[in-house]
Amino acid sequence: MLERTNLRYNSSLLNEDQGVILDTPLPDERGHFAQYGGLFVAETLMHAISELKEAYERYKDDPDFLAEFHHELAHFVGRPSPIYHAKRWSETLGGAQIWFKREDLNHTGAHKVNNCVGQMLLAKRMGKKRIIAETGAGMHGVATATVAARYGLECVVYMGAEDVRRQAANVHRMKLLGAKVIPVTSGSKTLKDALNEAMRDWVAHIDDTFYIIGTVAGPHPYPMMVRDFQKIIGEECIEQMALFAGRQPDYVVACVGGGSNAMGIFYPYIPYENVQLRGVEAGGDGLETGRHAASINAGKVGVLHGNRTYVMQDKDGQVQETHSISAGLDYPGVGPEHAWLNDTGRATYEVIKDDEALEAFQACCRLEGIIPALESSHALAYAAKLAPTLAKDKIILVNVSGRGDKDMHTVAEYLHMDL
Ligand SMILES: *Cc1c(COP(=O)(O)O)cnc(C)c1O
Repeated sequence: MLERTNLRYNSSLLNEDQGVILDTPLPDERGHFAQYGGLFVAETLMHAISELKEAYERYKDDPDFLAEFHHELAHFVGRPSPIYHAKRWSETLGGAQIWFKREDLNHTGAHKVNNCVGQMLLAKRMGKKRIIAETGAGMHGVATATVAARYGLECVVYMGAEDVRRQAANVHRMKLLGAKVIPVTSGSKTLKDALNEAMRDWVAHIDDTFYIIGTVAGPHPYPMMVRDFQKIIGEECIEQMALFAGRQPDYVVACVGGGSNAMGIFYPYIPYENVQLRGVEAGGDGLETGRHAASINAGKVGVLHGNRTYVMQDKDGQVQETHSISAGLDYPGVGPEHAWLNDTGRATYEVIKDDEALEAFQACCRLEGIIPALESSHALAYAAKLAPTLAKDKIILVNVSGRGDKDMHTVAEYLHMDL
């Protein structure tokens, strides 16, 4: 039997040589996860950040706020999402039993909406009239536009001009939902340029504008707040695994772009010492080619998007272009809490390449009748490698963060299929 210990961010998780003693939950008051996280923003944003921090402190344990959040998760998002035993795939692999957490069944097709609902409810309580967001592949933009429509707020989404071209379908979705999409033509015309533009907009409109960040990154309190809105994933798993599998898993596996679906499923499991946590980064064409998005495995500590973390950067500290078959993992940083979990050894971070993800994607389609997102296929590919090395009575729980409908064109192109 697995015991739930009181390990919650115990100092024993930290390497001795880091010399940091933490006996309070992370992050600390200033948003630090040991040396990571924090608040690196222009003076002009400090007021907006303090206001957000105060509002979040005030509402995060407020019974009315939580009741509304959970009501929306149930009736708008469709939670709880089920867990599912992938029996045929497990049998084929001939080792551990693979279970899925079905975030792909949420409204809008991924986990991102959980967080968008949470931030939107906060924005409403703060009296904000306007929502801004930045998006790479468009998934966070769609989730944000969705909640903005649901709650009747004006919505502006910044997107690199190159991404606008590549992700036309998501641009149409956002427009149908009533959002204004602004193509960003500076720099490489991709996500990191859209990030800068969104920050600039926020500075210019701090009075009436709420900036919805889509992953566990950004300046404090975002990494903590987004984690808190996503931790429903792991909380449900703990109940569902006990109920349907009779015990907790031996491994929990999730893909890591910025890290929000992984933090969401990991966080409630951190105190369960016997549950191993495995994040999976996008290896693209392979680490040796430089064409990947594996910030923890191949990045260096730096500052990106208002926090200190592992960042893909060149020797001059310039943020590097990333590559992955899955647009959602194409983020040059990673949430600071993952950087910390990595350094303490509580979670480990693996790398899966484009072709491996594609193979797992196809296996999941054919053997389970589930078309997963290419992002989630990275977690699935790692589980498929791990399963045959383990006994049949072991359990691997994979967070299937989203559905693959959005990836049809990419997959067809890689597999030289006609659609
Ligand atoms: C955006 C996205 C991701 C990556 O974001 P995280 O913050 O790392 O979770 C993963 N899976 C899907 C389906 C996504 O849309």
